[in-house]
Amino acid sequence: MKIVRFSPLQRSGASRLGILLGDGAKVLDVGECGLKPPAAPNDAYDLDGSYLRELLALVSRGAYRSYAVIDRAQVRLLAPIERPGKVICVGLNYRDHAAESKLPVPEQPVIFTKFPSCVIGPDEEIVLPPDSQKVDYEAELAFVVGRRASQIDVEDALDHVLGYTCVNDVSARDFQFQDVQWTRGKSCDTFCPMGEAIVTTDELRDPHNLRIRLHLNGATLQDSRTDQLVFGVPQILSFLSRSFTLEPGDVIATGTPPGVGFARKPPVFLKGGDEVIVEIEGVGRLRNTVRA
Ligand code: MG
Repeated sequence: MKIVRFSPLQRSGASRLGILLGDGAKVLDVGECGLKPPAAPNDAYDLDGSYLRELLALVSRGAYRSYAVIDRAQVRLLAPIERPGKVICVGLNYRDHAAESKLPVPEQPVIFTKFPSCVIGPDEEIVLPPDSQKVDYEAELAFVVGRRASQIDVEDALDHVLGYTCVNDVSARDFQFQDVQWTRGKSCDTFCPMGEAIVTTDELRDPHNLRIRLHLNGATLQDSRTDQLVFGVPQILSFLSRSFTLEPGDVIATGTPPGVGFARKPPVFLKGGDEVIVEIEGVGRLRNTVRA
């Protein structure tokens, strides 16, 4: 199943939860399916909650009215989670990317965060901060937590994942390297493009053998596979859960492969008018434009 959020082009109002149907040309408007709304927005991502359980059952039975199905062309897709409780990232998690960064392959996951307020959706603009001249892209496979997770063993970790989505871990390298830590460089407004959909684990069983690419203005600048991850999804989830509780709707970006802009010769940084696309096999495609 592919979970999205959207707003209808013809109507204003709050964003709506949807399911991409078939080849993605149609969207099921979950708000028209007669389910009792979740108490809090991120309860919609809770595998232990009644809302998601009922939704999964309804979709698998095809038990919805035709008026709840909208043409994809009639909606604007948003980030599949409007405001995650946490956005956690893993740094240096591809061996080759650690090498191009001239840093050793880490012995345990290197963790940092992005503010949830910097999440944007597909086709939204990445806005370059006026004080940075070195804004970079990072294509990343992200997983979405679907079940409260505290002190979880590696072998139980995947039971706590709802699904996968694309993230662009946009990074102001000048801020990142000037500051002692990475918060400013990673959390500027609009620096967490996410989407288009959350592909659930029943549809995508193995996240560790997927082609992952980044295209900038049509040129492919990152092209790797998730089998190059140093720490896989279960290891990351288990590691994090030993320090803090993960909650439904939390998003964890698993790191970026080689080919980022600052390590290229000559370096490549984002500029106004650019088009940047993260593409992950079986997960989808996330397109954004850049505004100076
Ligand atoms: Mg990253």
